[in-house]
Amino acid sequence: ENYYGLKRWGGGHFSVDDEGFMQVHPLCDQRSIRIHDIVKEAAQKGLKPPLTVRIQDLLHTRVIQLNQLFRDAIKDEKYDGRYRGVFPIKVNQLREVVEEIQDAGKPFNYGLECGSKPELMIAIAMHKDPKSLIICNGYKDDEFIRLALQGLRLGKEIYLVVEQLSEVPRIIQISKKLGVTPRIGFRIKLSTVGEGKWASSSGEDAKFGLTSPEIIDGARRLKRAGLVESLRLIHFHIGSQVPNIQTIKKATVEAARFYCELKKMGFPMELMDVGGGLGIDYDGSRSNYESSMNYTMREYARDVVYNIKSVCQDAGIDVPDIVTESGRAIVAPHSILITEVCDRISKTAVPPRPASKRKKINPVLRDLQANLDNEHGSTPLERYHDALQKKEEANHLFSLGYLDLAERAQADSTYWAICQELCEQAKHSRYTPEELESLPQMMAEQYVCNFSVFQSLIDHWACKQLFPVAPLHRLNESPDVDATLVDITCDSEGKVSSFTDVEDIRHTLRLHELKPKEPYYLGVFLVGAYQDIMGDLHNLFGRVNEVHVFLEDDEEDGFYIEDSIKGFTVNDVIGFTQYDGHILTRLMKKQIDRATKADEIKPREGTRMLDEYAELLRGHTYLAT
Ligand code: PLP
Repeated sequence: ENYYGLKRWGGGHFSVDDEGFMQVHPLCDQRSIRIHDIVKEAAQKGLKPPLTVRIQDLLHTRVIQLNQLFRDAIKDEKYDGRYRGVFPIKVNQLREVVEEIQDAGKPFNYGLECGSKPELMIAIAMHKDPKSLIICNGYKDDEFIRLALQGLRLGKEIYLVVEQLSEVPRIIQISKKLGVTPRIGFRIKLSTVGEGKWASSSGEDAKFGLTSPEIIDGARRLKRAGLVESLRLIHFHIGSQVPNIQTIKKATVEAARFYCELKKMGFPMELMDVGGGLGIDYDGSRSNYESSMNYTMREYARDVVYNIKSVCQDAGIDVPDIVTESGRAIVAPHSILITEVCDRISKTAVPPRPASKRKKINPVLRDLQANLDNEHGSTPLERYHDALQKKEEANHLFSLGYLDLAERAQADSTYWAICQELCEQAKHSRYTPEELESLPQMMAEQYVCNFSVFQSLIDHWACKQLFPVAPLHRLNESPDVDATLVDITCDSEGKVSSFTDVEDIRHTLRLHELKPKEPYYLGVFLVGAYQDIMGDLHNLFGRVNEVHVFLEDDEEDGFYIEDSIKGFTVNDVIGFTQYDGHILTRLMKKQIDRATKADEIKPREGTRMLDEYAELLRGHTYLAT
C-alpha cells in the first residue's frame, strides 16, 4: 500500500483491505467497494479488461466538495457574492458523466461550460436548472452565436465569452437581427503566465483572449451599439493543472483589477470567471511539480474568494459572483482504467548455456564467461565496462561472419546475465556509480498489458503526464519484479516507463511475479479527465469496455453496475476507415471459393473459415485473454 502511495494521491478514496485487495471509498468514508469484485462482475456480463470503471458516487462527491468548499469560503470571508460554478464538458463529455454532475450540482445551481458548437448543442439541450449558468468559450462562428442567443430566448442564462475581437461585431449584428440582448463576457489575456504542462493557455502569446487595448476597443463597440447592459462577465484561464497556488493568486488579482476597471467604465459587471486549472495531485507529493499541486481544493477556494474580495474592496467596487470552470479536479478521480498483464518480456528469459570445458570457444565468449564468473575479482564498474566492450566486439564479429548465431546468442545471454548480477548488487549497495544507475531500468522486465496507451492514456504519450498505477490485488504480498509496462500496439511509444513517486519520477514499477493461470490486474488511476475523448484509434483498437458503478444503498460494501458500454468491435473500427464488414466478408468469401475450387482447402473448411472471419468482425478489438 505504501509502495504504491495510494494514501498520498488517493485523496481518501483508495485503500487496501485485509486480504490485499484495492478498494475504493466513493464517499470518502468507511463504505468501500473492492475494485477486483467490479472486474469479476463486469466479466460475467461479458465485459473483460481493458475496462474503464467509473465510480459514479465519487463523481458526485467531488462536485459536492467543490461547491461546498466555495460556499464555506464565502461564508468565512463574509463575501457578498455567490459561487456559481460550471463544469467544462470538454473534460469529459460522456452523457452519464454530465448527468451525474448535473444531478450532484443541482442544489448548488452548478452549470455547464462549452467550448465548441457541438458542446453547446449538448449543454443547451441537457441544461435543466434555469438558475445555473451556461458559459460559451472557444472560437465561435455565426451558427454558434445564434444558437447561444436562441438559448437566451428559452430563458437560459447563457454567456458568450469573447475570445477574439472579431466576435464582437458578429454578436452585435446577430443579436440585433434576433432582437435579443446578449449576455457577454470578455476573456482576458493576462500577463500572468501559468505554470505546468498547459501553461501556454495563458500569457501574452496565448491563442485565446483579448489584450487590454482590445478590451477597450470591444467595450467601445458595445457602447456604440447600445449594448452596455450586455457586458457582465470577465473570464481568464491560465491553463490546466496549475501546480502552484501562487500563480493562481497572481492571476486572480490581475483579473480582479480588470473587473474593477470595467465596472468603473460603467458596465454592469456581475460575474468573475476564473476558468479551470485546479489541479490533481497525481504523484501525491503535494508539491509544485508538474504532476502535483502544492495546495488543496479548500485553499484554492479560499484564495480565489479572498483575492477577489480584497481587490474589489480596495477599489470600492461591489464583489462579483464567482464562477470556476474546474474540470480535471471534478472528473479525474472517478475513473479507473483496468488492464490485465498478458505476457512478460525479459532480457534474461533464456540464460547462457553452461560453458563447455572441452570445446574450443571464441575468445570473446571466453572473456564474457570469465566476467560472469568474476574470475579476476573486478569491481562492478570494471565488470560493466568489460562486458560492454566484449558485447560490442561480439556484435562486430557476428556482422563480419566470424560468430555464428548460437555464439551470438551465447554472447548476448552472458552479457545480460552479467548486467542482471550487477543490477542486483547495485540495488543492495549504498553507493552506485553513475553509469550503473540506469541498470535497473535497463534490466527491468516489460509487462505486456492488454490496452493501448494511445487510446486510454494519451496524455502520458503526448505530454509525459504521469498517472498512478497499482495492482488491484495481492497487495498483502511484497512485489519483487521491477517492471515497465508496454501496451499491445505495434508502436514502441506504446509504453509506460515513468511512474509517480513522491521524491522523483520512477522509471520502473515494482510488481508481483506473474502466476500461471491467474490473471494479474493493474489499475491506472485518476484517468477521468480528458483521456476518454482524446484517445485515438492507433492500430484500430478503439474504445474499451466500460462499466458505471454505484454504491448499493443498504449494504455496507455493496455495489451495482448500472450501465455498461461495450468497447468497439472490429466492425465498428473498420467503419471509421471506410471499410464495410459485409464487403470485406464478400471479398474473403471470393478468396475462399477460389482456394476451394483449386482444391487447396475442403469446402467444409472454407465455410468454417468464413464463419470465423464473420465472428471476429463482431468481436472486440483487444486481445481475447
Ligand atoms: N476552461 C477553459 C477555457 C479551458 O480551456 C479548460 C481546459 O483547459 C478548462 C476550463 C478546464 O480546465 P481544468 O480541467 O484544468 O479545470
